[in-house]
Amino acid sequence: MRHYPCQRCDNRLFFDNTLCLVCHSELGWCPGCHALVTVDLQPDGRYRCVDDTCATLLVKCHNYSVEGVCNRMITSEEADRGMTLCDCCRHNQAIPDLSVPGHRERWAKLESAKRRLFYTLDLLGLPHEVDGRRANPPLAFAFLADEVAAEGDWHSSDEGMPVFTGHAGGLITINVKEADDVERERLRNDFNEAHRTLIGHFRHEIGHYYWELLIKNRDEPACIEVFGDHNNPSYSEALDRHYQQGPPNDWRGRFVSAYATMHPWEDFAETFGFYLDMVAILDTAGHFGITPTGFDEDLEAMLTTFRRLSLGFNEMNREMGLLDLVPEVITPTIACKLCYIHDMVLAARRQQ
Ligand SMILES: [Zn+2]
Ligand SMILES: [Zn+2]
Ligand SMILES: [Zn+2]
Ligand SMILES: [Zn+2]
Repeated sequence: MRHYPCQRCDNRLFFDNTLCLVCHSELGWCPGCHALVTVDLQPDGRYRCVDDTCATLLVKCHNYSVEGVCNRMITSEEADRGMTLCDCCRHNQAIPDLSVPGHRERWAKLESAKRRLFYTLDLLGLPHEVDGRRANPPLAFAFLADEVAAEGDWHSSDEGMPVFTGHAGGLITINVKEADDVERERLRNDFNEAHRTLIGHFRHEIGHYYWELLIKNRDEPACIEVFGDHNNPSYSEALDRHYQQGPPNDWRGRFVSAYATMHPWEDFAETFGFYLDMVAILDTAGHFGITPTGFDEDLEAMLTTFRRLSLGFNEMNREMGLLDLVPEVITPTIACKLCYIHDMVLAARRQQ
């Protein structure tokens, strides 16, 4: 992620900041600047973006001013129309039960990851709201916990109803326990995954959303040529087979992860998530001058830079005993899948 300068004192601001730690100015993500900016409190309780060329009158998102899990602003006009939530928070259909200890902290982590997701979607020009109207299907999020079985125990239990992280008809559900570091690492080990992160869940599930928005009934034959036939076998048959037999031994080289071998829809979502990883890493590297550019319409140029960058950063992580930053190896087959996704993104970008 980029850094932003404090307009009052030029201190470096981080994407999730709400206050400048040097001059104590209040901060907020301005929808006019599409950046984290210093905001000035006005006598009527509203704020003004201090960027001279913007100077938009702003109001804090309800989840910022009241709940403390957001740092985005909405415009004064949006507030006058009765809007209370920012462009990220207004997609929430369900939030965790905040009376449960620990849920607010986990919700804050989920929102932080979601804001990063939206930053990348906007960087790519992918639709999630069209001219202020909801895209069809509308994009929504539900952050839910497994049904509590024992008093005060929010952890999953055989007796309660489990919540499955997934996507259906535009609704992305994420189990709140994924925001618990210990629980998530345990699941990563159980499933033998190279990575398991909150941002990774968002990037995977949004891949299912874009399949439905941009591929379904539009480009299915071409998608089948690259990812395989999603109608045969059916999803439930593929799911059963995957959990009985596991991935084929030779999956590396053809798929970005073992899970991607389960069904063409999962292959698409895993590859889409990996594409967003790459774009986010290159955007950050470009901003810090590590690479000459960030996102590039030329996929080959992006892949060349990304391959070189991954080798270096994997070694740095190994020096620190961390997981590889980029465990995936981009073979020609995987590059072909990325190429399909890149072309889909560029087409959607031109339509925006
Ligand atoms: Zn400052
Ligand atoms: Zn502004
Ligand atoms: Zn918000
Ligand atoms: Zn999936």
